[in-house]
Amino acid sequence: MSEKIRVTVWNEYRHEKTHEEVAKCYPNGIHGAIAEYLSEQGLDVKTATLDEPEHGLTDEVLDNTDVLIWWGHMAHADVDDATVAKVKERVLDGKLGLVVLHSGHFSKIFKSLMGTTCNLKWHEIGEKERIWVVEKSHPIAEGLPDYFELEHEEMYGEHFGIPAPDELVFLSWFESGYVFRSGCCFYRGNGRIFYFQPGHETYPNFYDANVRKVIYNAVRWAAPKFHAPPQYGHFEGSLE
Ligand code: ZN
Repeated sequence: MSEKIRVTVWNEYRHEKTHEEVAKCYPNGIHGAIAEYLSEQGLDVKTATLDEPEHGLTDEVLDNTDVLIWWGHMAHADVDDATVAKVKERVLDGKLGLVVLHSGHFSKIFKSLMGTTCNLKWHEIGEKERIWVVEKSHPIAEGLPDYFELEHEEMYGEHFGIPAPDELVFLSWFESGYVFRSGCCFYRGNGRIFYFQPGHETYPNFYDANVRKVIYNAVRWAAPKFHAPPQYGHFEGSLE
């Protein structure tokens, strides 16, 4: 890993082109809003989008990325299986951390790494979300208050069809009464995956200071933590 964490913010980038309301909210795209903040924090940030060749995720890009952030919604099916396989392999090898945002719960890469439906309840009425920190000492909760609120967010509710998270950092309450495991850490193979629920495309929550802090903390948590890859297979002789 280089000294500066190298982040690639991947965004489907379709809503911004087809929905005026979304374009107004994110004139530089959702990826642009996230990348701008992470760059200000001193990270080495690039962006990639679905409609670029190889979805912007060539071997060269992936080999020079420590953490991949993923936002997708309307075009999960358009993501090439070969790209998903390349990302998955690097995550399991511990070479690439993965941060999945909001509707990315239904992305091919997240479903493949979880092995479950990743389905959930949802409705979109612009209600308040209260995000509780349930693991105070976790690095992804660093610098956050006991809870923070977003005035408007899409409701995601339990049951969330994921395997039990290895660490649950955030639990959300919505004004309409639903609750959701909104910040979940998973260890898979030698890699780390974090899922974070906020981020519906018509609300400006990727400009929210607390949401941004969570994403920044998650990038630092998910970044590869070792230099020597593990060795597997048959070994001659014994170890001293
Ligand atoms: Zn949404």
